[in-house]
Amino acid sequence: MIGQYDPVQSIRNSTRIDFEGHDGLTSFDIMHYRMSNRVVEGRMVTPERLAELVEGERPLEAESIEDADRPCPECGENVISVGYMPSVTEFVTAYKCQECSWSETDR
Ligand SMILES: [Zn+2]
Repeated sequence: MIGQYDPVQSIRNSTRIDFEGHDGLTSFDIMHYRMSNRVVEGRMVTPERLAELVEGERPLEAESIEDADRPCPECGENVISVGYMPSVTEFVTAYKCQECSWSETDR
């Protein structure tokens, strides 16, 4: 990465989120936003969207995205995890590389 990381610019650059008219964003808003949404394969995703990427279907519920503290076995980049409920009787943790298409679940 070149230069300093600017979270505000990073979010504005995201093609999936429309921030028009949201110039009043406070640093708290940004912090809160960054806690639950992450960039995966160049796109900003919500926990629900991340679970959907791995599962193939939208979950009933998804928790916050977290760092998995392990490198991707395919490309060595950062892996993130999200816990979600694909059905009322099941809770699954999914792992997804932020840079490539690698993913796995703890099923
Ligand atoms: Zn990878």
